[in-house]
Amino acid sequence: MRYSYATHLECSATGERHDIGTLEGLSRAGKPLLARYELAALRREVRRADIEARPANLWRWRELLPVPDPKYVMSLGEVETPLIELLNSARPTGFAPPIVKDEGRLPTGSFKARGLCLAVSMAQSFGVRRVAIPTNGNAGAAMAAYAARAGMEAFCFCPDDTPEINLSEIALQGATVWRVNGLINDCARLVGLGKERFGWFDMSTLKEPYRIEGKKTMGLELAAQMQWRLPDVVFYPTGGGTGLIGMWKGWQELAALGWIEGPMPRLVAVQSTGCAPIVRAFDSGAQTAIPWENAHTIASGIRVPAAIGDFLILRALRETRGFAIAVEDADIERARREVAAKDGLLLSPEGAATYAAYLAAARSGRLAASERVVLFNCASGLKYPMPPVTAHMDLNAPFAHLPPKLSG
Ligand SMILES: *Cc1c(COP(=O)(O)O)cnc(C)c1O
Repeated sequence: MRYSYATHLECSATGERHDIGTLEGLSRAGKPLLARYELAALRREVRRADIEARPANLWRWRELLPVPDPKYVMSLGEVETPLIELLNSARPTGFAPPIVKDEGRLPTGSFKARGLCLAVSMAQSFGVRRVAIPTNGNAGAAMAAYAARAGMEAFCFCPDDTPEINLSEIALQGATVWRVNGLINDCARLVGLGKERFGWFDMSTLKEPYRIEGKKTMGLELAAQMQWRLPDVVFYPTGGGTGLIGMWKGWQELAALGWIEGPMPRLVAVQSTGCAPIVRAFDSGAQTAIPWENAHTIASGIRVPAAIGDFLILRALRETRGFAIAVEDADIERARREVAAKDGLLLSPEGAATYAAYLAAARSGRLAASERVVLFNCASGLKYPMPPVTAHMDLNAPFAHLPPKLSG
């Protein structure tokens, strides 16, 4: 048994092969590169049961990951994240409780850890010393953490309105971080400049081939957790789309290994009405998306006006017979309150968006009552602003102003 069965990189647009033994960014055509594996050999030499016998974490999937040798693995404890049924939160009559995959349990409190632990491990294997990233917060936090672990210098560029906690955690984890008076795509331009001037390695979404390999483990994990029978529909809060494309890729690999059968889950891309380029492109039948103007939403993780992998996201949605749907910020806030108060699960706004989208899709008939649904909560709700609490009790006059619940 080899540690990794990765063989080469392939251009996602032209299919052109690139060497996996050299440090790569985009393909020669300027498109994302995808890692490919020797699946026939893996199928002969590894069984599902071998995977299941290992500790339940991201590295149990090592044969389907690109890291060539365990000595490069940078780990902060990438646990398998739990599946939690929303038993009490509102749902349409006749529907079974949707299941949340709670990615907030990962290191740095978001699923960005999956991608960045892979990307930093691979960068380490190539001897990279300086990494840079444009980030709405969570990706920068994850990169800073793994770069610190690897002893690399890290540079993060955040839009002005990135959540405060993200800036602080990035800085505390040893990275250099700047607020930029622009959006994520403007930050990406600055990273491009730093790459030219200072030789930084660009960790932008899909501009290096390995973050997506880490993200695909969400899909692999889901298969193993559900006894190798995937759900019918998966709602995914979509920014750059790494996770959505990654899961789709991971399921294709599992199908080629004969580890899963049947149709893949319908993939649903969830965006905010304040930034919905993928929804607009999907609904108009387009193959690529037009950049969104004046993007704004409280769900900062999905505030991505233009995604370099847009054509892959749209292909994944269409090939799995899924769809794209946008929800209002007010509905995201309502969804967050509902799930926290009824089920005790504090979702991120992005995670709450998937629950709001689930309700809307069920109401409009895009979702059938018989379909088994998984929603992705991509970050811990603790990383986001919450409504302030103003109630105060005076020791000199206890219970003077009782809330209606107690006095009624
Ligand atoms: C990055 C991020 C997303 C979007 O993920 P992609 O795979 O890049 O589309 C959603 N939610 C949160 C909390 C994020 O940090």
